[in-house]
Amino acid sequence: MTTKDVVKLYDEYVMKTYTRLPLCLEKAKGALVEDIDGKKYLDFFPGWAVSGIGHCHPEVTKAISKQAKKLLHVSNNYYSALQGVLAKKIIEHAFPGKVFFCNSGAEANEGAVKLARKYGHEKGRFEVITMAKSFHGRTLAMIAATGQDKVKHGFEPLPEGFVHIPFGDIEALEKTVNTKTAALLLELIQCEGGINIARTEYIEKVREICDKEDIVLIIDEVQTGMGRTGKMFCYQNYAISPDVMTLAKSLGGGLPIGAIVASSKFEGVLTPGSHASTFGGSPIVCAGALGVFEAIEKKNLLENAVKQGKYLVKKLRGLKKKYEIIKEIRGSALTIGVELAIDGESIYKRCLEKGLLINCTQKNVLRIMPPLTVTKGEIDRALAILDGVLKNI
Ligand SMILES: *Cc1c(COP(=O)(O)O)cnc(C)c1O
Repeated sequence: MTTKDVVKLYDEYVMKTYTRLPLCLEKAKGALVEDIDGKKYLDFFPGWAVSGIGHCHPEVTKAISKQAKKLLHVSNNYYSALQGVLAKKIIEHAFPGKVFFCNSGAEANEGAVKLARKYGHEKGRFEVITMAKSFHGRTLAMIAATGQDKVKHGFEPLPEGFVHIPFGDIEALEKTVNTKTAALLLELIQCEGGINIARTEYIEKVREICDKEDIVLIIDEVQTGMGRTGKMFCYQNYAISPDVMTLAKSLGGGLPIGAIVASSKFEGVLTPGSHASTFGGSPIVCAGALGVFEAIEKKNLLENAVKQGKYLVKKLRGLKKKYEIIKEIRGSALTIGVELAIDGESIYKRCLEKGLLINCTQKNVLRIMPPLTVTKGEIDRALAILDGVLKNI
């Protein structure tokens, strides 16, 4: 089959819910991917951060191949060793508490909101405050939570109880908190929102308000988690700890997994029968996730993320001096946004033609998130492609 054949199949049989680029990938390793026609690309946005440690990382491939021969799925009315071992691993890297496993970011956030509502139920607290420009997933409750109109359009009426305020605005938060507030749900770096980074003083104040008012602070680490910002979890760049953290995307190294991590204070809030997920925490996905932790720890990938992130930003600053259309470069380790004075669509499309995969969000922010395994040589090659594209704009 060629890309053309595959596109034809999709046209006929797959729902058109995505704007797809004309690229059909067949195999990949690390930051290198190859399409079905044999053309090679550097992937600096692997699977919207899903393949955070690179495609088909050997630790992940090895772990799931081994597990695939033993047991794929166990229902949650029984036990399986790997789910317990993975929960322990996550808690050891995060904060004292417990984990619930599900299959996606939206499902993790949805479950976190259920936990917060249950916690506040007896006091009549149900409202969840979220941020403008946030992104929390595509279920009905999560499009209500997301602070972007484009995801809501046509699906009204939406579930009640979500209130949006500007990101980074403490006064707005103080004004909005009331006796019905159950939770605050936010990302520390709004990735879909354009790589907007929360300030330290802001987050410290948010923590203070949540403590004072007994509001559940839910941090959505679906995109920032698992080393993307140079720490295992992004909140570790701040002097705070969340009440509840949600994970997905790169947690499974390419396999579908999501997790709600709730601190000890919320022990027992979700009782037997109050929440469930048929596929949640199956041995095969847990094996993959344990492979991700193994790779990050054994290969010092957090250090590599910081080091290569610095190098990448330095090189991008060089491009900023050369091209006036680059307005700002912001980011944290390997979570990088390049804000342009023009629409970025033609740029990432030309990069694709030249063999570099990147993304553009909010129309004018190029999103560059190479895998944690990225090398200096790969960065040099990617930036040479971007330089060539910018030259001809
Ligand atoms: C991708 C993403 C989600 C949604 O995750 P899905 O697995 O697509 O449901 C939620 N929050 C953030 C911050 C994300 O980046």
